[in-house]
Amino acid sequence: MWLVPRHSRGLTLRTPVPDVVRDALVRWYEGEGSEADHRASVTMVTKARTHGQWIACSCMGDTDPPPLMSAAYLSEAETYYLRRLTSKRQRRPEHASDCPFFREQAPQRFREKRSAEAPVIDVPEGLFIAHRLAPEKLAEAPSDSDPDDRSRGVTIPRLARLLWQLMDMAHVNEVHPLPARRGRNMTMASEFARLRNAATRLEIAPGIPLSAHLYTHIDPYERKAVFARLRKAARTWPEGLAPQAFLALYANDISGTTLFLGQGKELDLKTRVQYSGSLIGPPYLVLVVVGEHNPRDGYAALRAFAQPLARTSAFIPVHNYHERKVACDLLDLQYHLRRRGIALGFKRPLFDLPSKIGTLRPDFVLDIHDSTTGEIIETALEVIASEDPEYVAAKRHQLALLGKAGRVITARAATIDSHGTGAILKANLGIG
Ligand SMILES: [Zn+2]
Repeated sequence: MWLVPRHSRGLTLRTPVPDVVRDALVRWYEGEGSEADHRASVTMVTKARTHGQWIACSCMGDTDPPPLMSAAYLSEAETYYLRRLTSKRQRRPEHASDCPFFREQAPQRFREKRSAEAPVIDVPEGLFIAHRLAPEKLAEAPSDSDPDDRSRGVTIPRLARLLWQLMDMAHVNEVHPLPARRGRNMTMASEFARLRNAATRLEIAPGIPLSAHLYTHIDPYERKAVFARLRKAARTWPEGLAPQAFLALYANDISGTTLFLGQGKELDLKTRVQYSGSLIGPPYLVLVVVGEHNPRDGYAALRAFAQPLARTSAFIPVHNYHERKVACDLLDLQYHLRRRGIALGFKRPLFDLPSKIGTLRPDFVLDIHDSTTGEIIETALEVIASEDPEYVAAKRHQLALLGKAGRVITARAATIDSHGTGAILKANLGIG
């Protein structure tokens, strides 16, 4: 494989591509690569673009005109892909039938990390932005230090981490103990209000708070008020940054590129809705980024990330069915325990938390205060949601770490189903 001048036949001025880079490129192209492969590939294709080069494949040997590929940027997905330049009309050669580049590139998928090490999830750096200007609109090509997921791997989309950051700052992932005599007094409207409030403390561009372009209802989008406001703001938007707005919406279902919202409304996106884990059914909280698709089409809903929630009235993020069951059980248990003089609060951490042995992210952290005995219990609760050997191995590793940092109890899927979370707390902590 070589880098060759653009618009040439690829027979002269060849720069060889090292085999290790070519191999990484193939794995990435086939959709199988690791984060390191992805990084190496993006570095290579961005360099080729910057230097006005195409990629020439060696599958037809050294002397025949080589099959050519160019690196293209897919703005709505904010990623690069290889375009096969194998037009018959322009008499450009096709790859050998057993060459990996003979087929179209596998779609970029959102990969779950498959190792015993839990992925590190940090709060995203910099501005609350999920849409960037295409590299050709920038003075410089994106560098490797570009603070987004292209350079740091594709495991967790930036949009996901932005949604989690907003939820974390709004504290919707934290449930306080019940007040002495009243109920919880939370509604979907109050949860959205907490998100809007947190949005005043985040910036989508220097001097522009997220709250100025965050909508928690689809109506302003349907009326095109979102676009009008964005077009107006774009005139004075800081240079080098893409004007963008966000919708935080409640969704009943997701299918491909469509969100199914309340009251029979739908929202179509330019790309498939992203989500983590499996689709466990509503309720979902979806963060949508609205930006310029291309100058001809103007603004549109580009991408979305859907986060399953515990309940419509409690925006506790959950990643699988059994986490949802535990979160809902804990909400109900608060009332039961209050009658016994026990106050229960809990949190579903979204990012790694500092601990005495390094950073950790338990599924739940419980804070229990027994007012009759004065006992205070702080414990992590880890949900074992499946029997998949790789998953169980990762969980075992996580439990060992959590055990070093403090108390931890486990809740297995089968026990959650048969006995409920209350029984698990009673058996492990002696409360209830
Ligand atoms: Zn080839």
